[in-house]
Amino acid sequence: MFRTGELLAVELKSERSPALDALVEEILRGAPKVGRNELKAWRKPQRELRQLARLDYVRVMRRTLDYHTLRGIIHEARKIWPQLNREPFPIGTLDQLAAISSDLRIHLQAAPYRGPEGMALRGFYVHKTPKVLKHPLIYLNTAHHLGAVSATFMHEIGHYVTTKVTGSAGDGAHYFFNAAHHSHLVRPTELAADVLVSLAAYPEPLARKVFATPWACGLVARADGLPDRAFAQIRKYVRKSVGIDFGASLPPGQSFNYLTGMIHYAKLRWALLAEYDL
Ligand SMILES: [Zn+2]
Repeated sequence: MFRTGELLAVELKSERSPALDALVEEILRGAPKVGRNELKAWRKPQRELRQLARLDYVRVMRRTLDYHTLRGIIHEARKIWPQLNREPFPIGTLDQLAAISSDLRIHLQAAPYRGPEGMALRGFYVHKTPKVLKHPLIYLNTAHHLGAVSATFMHEIGHYVTTKVTGSAGDGAHYFFNAAHHSHLVRPTELAADVLVSLAAYPEPLARKVFATPWACGLVARADGLPDRAFAQIRKYVRKSVGIDFGASLPPGQSFNYLTGMIHYAKLRWALLAEYDL
């Protein structure tokens, strides 16, 4: 397990070409402009945390994500990870993530992003561009904790899978900003990608244990305020499996961002169980 804040400068040489490097640079240069609102939110992480904590994820999810598309996405994702939603996706090394990408013929670039407010960016996904890119491209900001990098990787693979299912790649680069969880809830492609992260992190047997409480069994499914008991279990699980311990060794802003992410994926998982029995 890598220590928090340790920089991982990995150059996946076989994947690199000058044209590809230039494209990555160009997209990274565009991040501060495209993510103006997300950067603003990132500077005040407590705000997003409060918003997400009280939101009913069932209602939001129902509105954004079509059930049949969701089933299709899970089916497609299982061609890559047959154990999806059965076992937790292991936190691997960057080499392992590179091997998965290479099997799928996806270009993977993994390096710390040192631009302004670099930690606000987690990564991005580009499906194709006519001149430079014949295969999809994933960029991972490895300045983040390896557990967060793995989650980013799953999210970006989620875009790859969703594109296969829906046939639509969307425009240009899909940036993943650290404080964009709230905005993901209203964008079908982003929420679909987050669903895969959530299922990979909290497979069904675990989800049933954590969220098995009487208040979840009302006539109308809902997933709003995360109960203390579930929160404590999730926190312990994340510390053990991912190695992220909030508040202990992370800078305060980053701790809030990761905590927001944890609550987001946990509530999404709860909603998937409550609404779709997944
Ligand atoms: Zn995304």
